[in-house]
Amino acid sequence: MSDNIKSIRELDLEIIVEYYSTVKRQGPGSPDITLKALSFIEGLTESSQIVDLGCGSGGQTMVLAQDAPGQITGIDLFPQFVDLFNANAKALNLQNRVKGELGSMDNLHFQEESLDLIWCEGAIYNIGFEKGMKYWHRFLKPGGYLAVSEATWFTDKRPAEIQDFWMDAYPGIDTISHKLEQMQSAGYFPIAAFMLPEKCWIKHFYEPQIKAHEDFLRKNAGNRAVEDFIKNQQHEMELYYKYKQYYGYAFFIGKKM
Ligand code: SAH
Repeated sequence: MSDNIKSIRELDLEIIVEYYSTVKRQGPGSPDITLKALSFIEGLTESSQIVDLGCGSGGQTMVLAQDAPGQITGIDLFPQFVDLFNANAKALNLQNRVKGELGSMDNLHFQEESLDLIWCEGAIYNIGFEKGMKYWHRFLKPGGYLAVSEATWFTDKRPAEIQDFWMDAYPGIDTISHKLEQMQSAGYFPIAAFMLPEKCWIKHFYEPQIKAHEDFLRKNAGNRAVEDFIKNQQHEMELYYKYKQYYGYAFFIGKKM
């Protein structure tokens, strides 16, 4: 990492969680894109069992819940997010079929072959795409679906600055074709893969954060660790604007074979 910018791995997790609790979305995405991904999934009914892994405060889950029938369980590692998730479900009167639980996406309590759909937006990187795909496969019913958005290279080659940034932040980033291969060898038929448009990063993710950064800095004035975190986030944002033709998120939808 360059001079005074700290790697995301050196930063304080509590600060990251506290900060991301102040914004609506914890990763790039949008209601339109959630609905587009959902349009590839067939056969959901009121008794369908749906799980949203790394749900955060549930920005995407509530969109899903308003358009898909079934019971939805959101799972997140951090209690702050689970509490916000459950408050958001209640505010929309969805609490009877949308429930947030504390848990880790690599240690799930569901029965094998019990789920109709596994959803995961901008969160599989926490355990890695390939590992997640393989581990989650057992929990889906035969013919069940998986819908995951993931950091993806859009080109085979890219400038060293952005290559190095991602190798530090998430070396699992890869091209769409490699991700599809991983999906297929984990036992899914690839149904669709599509790129998230820039507005999922800019309008829905980064723009609301400009004010959130200022507010968070003001609230934590003089806190060096907070300043380092915000600097890291601003650097990440600048890199996106500079290199967005080389990478972004893609949605991958697969069906358990
Ligand atoms: N899906 C949300 C949040 C994405 S950010 C959105 O798109 O807005 C990634 C989320 O994964 C965070 O909420 C983080 O707390 C959660 N997370 C990190 N490690 C996890 C793990 N091992 N199991 C479950 N959730 C995890």
